[in-house]
Amino acid sequence: MRKWIVAGNWKMHNTIAESIALAKAIKEGSAGIQSGAIVLAPPFTALFSVGETIKGSNLSLAAQNMHYEDKGAFTGEIAPSMLKDTGCAYVILGHSERRKYFHERDNDVNLKVKKALTSGLIPIMCVGETDEEREKGVTQDVVGRQVQQGLNGVEKIENVVIAYEPVWAIGTGKVATSAQAQEVHAFIRGLLKNTFGGKKADDICILYGGSVTKDNVGDLIAMNDIDGALVGGASLKADGFLGIIKEISGRK
Ligand code: PEP
Repeated sequence: MRKWIVAGNWKMHNTIAESIALAKAIKEGSAGIQSGAIVLAPPFTALFSVGETIKGSNLSLAAQNMHYEDKGAFTGEIAPSMLKDTGCAYVILGHSERRKYFHERDNDVNLKVKKALTSGLIPIMCVGETDEEREKGVTQDVVGRQVQQGLNGVEKIENVVIAYEPVWAIGTGKVATSAQAQEVHAFIRGLLKNTFGGKKADDICILYGGSVTKDNVGDLIAMNDIDGALVGGASLKADGFLGIIKEISGRK
């Protein structure tokens, strides 16, 4: 049985002090929940402090990106070992904002996913189509390519988390309907079955992301192939994020 995951992507928000305060509030508010995984992804500057704040709790730490090399002359980049050093267990990779603003390609994402796995980090690999691609009817082509190329040559597929995040739903308030999301999640799981076999595909956690709130997450999480959520805006306030966690933990 796969476990549910709720991950909060804080993006480029929060000072160290603000991050600690938010992490403390989430830790206190979710103290009784033990079943799934609650993951916080603060900005790099706050990783260590948030890691210290949530130590010994049911929360886990994630970074929002990393480089695929161990070390070297890569000014401004962060190595997997550095993330492990701060206490990270997860790393978000291939987020659509990385693809759009920093020109990450499927091949870069693939190198990062493989590196995360060999470094002992759980990659949360993001995929999703733009508005234009959905309108053109090529959602499955785009998502299929991102999944297949992103996972090319990956061996420990059971340690990968996939986040389906339609680009048109991110930060827009335009959440996918549960049927739209389930359709793509089932498609992704089908692809995983073809490539990695049924048992492994059944165990892979596929999260939905894109304008998730405590008010709309119930319908999404009721779907068979939706195993949790990657949350941006609504993860920046403890109340909203805790509301999402409670909805998911109560239903999965
Ligand atoms: C995200 O950026 O991963 C995300 C899902 O953002 P939001 O929840 O704000 O749409």
